[in-house]
Amino acid sequence: MEIKSIGVVGAGQMGNGIAHVMALAGYEVRLNDISQEALDKAVATIGKNLDRQVTRDKISSDERDRTMARIRTTLHLPEIAQTDLVIEAATEREEVKDKIFAALLPHLKPETILTSNTSSISITRLASRTDRPEKFLGFHFMNPVPVMKLVELIRGIATDHETYESCLAVVEKLDKTAASAEDFPAFIVNRILIPMINEACYTLYEGVGNVRSIDMAMKLGANHPMGPLELADFIGLDTCLAIMNVLHDGLADTKYRPCPLLTKYVEAGWLGRKTGRGFYDYRGDEPVPTR
Ligand code: NAD
Repeated sequence: MEIKSIGVVGAGQMGNGIAHVMALAGYEVRLNDISQEALDKAVATIGKNLDRQVTRDKISSDERDRTMARIRTTLHLPEIAQTDLVIEAATEREEVKDKIFAALLPHLKPETILTSNTSSISITRLASRTDRPEKFLGFHFMNPVPVMKLVELIRGIATDHETYESCLAVVEKLDKTAASAEDFPAFIVNRILIPMINEACYTLYEGVGNVRSIDMAMKLGANHPMGPLELADFIGLDTCLAIMNVLHDGLADTKYRPCPLLTKYVEAGWLGRKTGRGFYDYRGDEPVPTR
């Protein structure tokens, strides 16, 4: 099935990026959120990010205007249901996602493909509560969406071949690359990346190195563009902890136990860049390590 229109649910960090790249690739986009403020902020962010692409000569100002014109926002979820592909990118809570799919189902076209941008929740489980598990897929973008080239496509146990192929064609139209993943906890990227970050937290917790030495070691010693603790602050320490818990619970292996120091930072509300403090303190001109 050829996809022409995309419904995006959730206009946060990921939702605005998804709407941006989809509209730029020529898809008609309907963007939904429960908060008008989030929708307004998303449109402003997309405008600002497209302006930057114009300044860098990546797109013309005409393309920018046409892209913006392809995005329509709504607080009313059923208004996005007539699209060909729905990408749910709301808050990472299973009951939130279940409620969204349940509210959408009565309004969907029979052929509409349903997907979730979840970082860690089981695609098979989300799909099983809908009327179309064979037309349900994990469509997992990386952050920031306009910059990162990878999309993980995650098949639930019932996902059919046609659904996968239709979504793969969308990924290719975005000029991104798909990695095919089976539906096991945290899929591929986070299954490997988040335990590495958790191990960096243990390295700090056990006093093997301080924040600066751990980040510098991995940047210069392993050629990583960001140190693991810097990266954890960028992702959000609450998100890192939530993914470790999904791995720990889902794979029942103690090698995935979350580091107590990571838990302590989250309990303190030091969640990284988004709260101004995590492994670094961002409240001054320069980030300063907190340990
Ligand atoms: P966010 O907090 O920035 O945005 C979530 C948005 O969802 C908010 O604007 C909120 O108002 C909205 N929302 C909540 N309930 C809703 C509902 N019932 N209907 C419509 N909108 C609703 O979160 P985010 O970082 O954009 O994450 C969104 C999803 O993307 C999550 O599933 C997350 O796991 C996944 N994800 C996040 C990242 C990342 O690095 N942040 C990367 C890949 C995937």
